[in-house]
Amino acid sequence: MHQPQLSHLAATDPDLAGLVEAEATRQHDKIRLIASENYVSPAVLEATGSVLTNKYSEGYPGKRYYEGQQVVDPIEELAQERARALFGVPHANVQPYSGSPANLAVHLAFMRPGDTFLSLELAHGGHLTHGSPVSISGKWLRPVHYGVGRETGRIDMDEVRDLARKERPKVIFCGGTAIPRTIDFPAFAEIARETGAVLVADIAHIAGLIVGGAHPSPAGHADVITTTTHKTLRGPRGAMIMTTEEHATAIDKAIFPGLQGGPHNHTTAAIAVALKEAARPDFRTYAHQVVANAEALAGALTARGFDLVSGGTDNHLILIDLTNKNIGGKPAAKALDLAGIELNFNTVPFDPRKPWSPSGIRIGTAAVTTRGLTEEHMASVAEWMDQAVAAAEDGPALERIAGEVRDLMGGFSMPGWAPVR
Ligand SMILES: *Cc1c(COP(=O)(O)O)cnc(C)c1O
Repeated sequence: MHQPQLSHLAATDPDLAGLVEAEATRQHDKIRLIASENYVSPAVLEATGSVLTNKYSEGYPGKRYYEGQQVVDPIEELAQERARALFGVPHANVQPYSGSPANLAVHLAFMRPGDTFLSLELAHGGHLTHGSPVSISGKWLRPVHYGVGRETGRIDMDEVRDLARKERPKVIFCGGTAIPRTIDFPAFAEIARETGAVLVADIAHIAGLIVGGAHPSPAGHADVITTTTHKTLRGPRGAMIMTTEEHATAIDKAIFPGLQGGPHNHTTAAIAVALKEAARPDFRTYAHQVVANAEALAGALTARGFDLVSGGTDNHLILIDLTNKNIGGKPAAKALDLAGIELNFNTVPFDPRKPWSPSGIRIGTAAVTTRGLTEEHMASVAEWMDQAVAAAEDGPALERIAGEVRDLMGGFSMPGWAPVR
């Protein structure tokens, strides 16, 4: 049963209530390895579902365009204050609707149409908003991409430096969606300083690891830090942009009035709650367990012959090239989903196949760690993954695995849902 309970929703719209309940049950029964997903706490869920959704607050605390901000102002200030304290930054904007608009605000703040910026190639682990040709960032600006080494699977900082010297980009982005290795923020900062670029660290994936002390922080190195709040940080769907004093006004203006209207106050409140939770000592334990689980899973997968990009992981994320398993990423992901193991197909660096049917899959341990799985369970996860990939066409075999997965996950409670007794 969903927690908090959906009794009003069930009365008003039983169809929708049934669907939400079904999704909660699905999230409970599966091993959720999608690297960008997590389970938020009941406190975050309650803030997200609160009456704060009723309020309009265009502007910033103390400078709004609508009246009645006696309560919303302190809520947003609380979220800002907690973000500054937790990340150790001078300024935080907590209004971006999500990670993509946050990055768009960075483009708007620092560039004009046609300007050059440097970022990681999408197929090597970057993000759509870092200049993909299908994104506004690639259509209206001039992205130049660095990549990872064919042999190492790691970003080559010499290539980044050479490109920055040659192209003189306005902005350099570091960070991405499929980077299994530690990002060298000081090295990026040195290159940005030398070439006069604004350094933006997009830590959407690793924000929770950073505040938990399980990944180095870009604070003090990057001029601007963008992050989602719903991945390893374990908050509501939303985003933040953190900056030095120098860039605070440009970023605030880019978000409002540059891109957005009224902030989503219920989300702001839930971000404040998530930041409070992330400041607790048990969140440090969580972040380190996420990495320990990923390392254990990487080891168990390697032992079963899986080919990991860069040979392993330093964080929550593992990128697997399935070429040697003679299966594409998409059919593998579909088979694994039927086996109760949820993940996404993904391009791998230098992928000879197309993005819609690439060679790899991407997994992460943020969600399963929230459920309470530890290193000892990672061997079973790897074994089930191996079996499912080998039996991708065998419906009954996949169903048997899904049953075993459900049995395991039944032993771990899920925030926001409890079985009916
Ligand atoms: C997830 C992600 C984003 C986009 O976040 P959305 O909330 O999905 O718009 C941006 N950058 C990186 C690196 C991401 O991983």
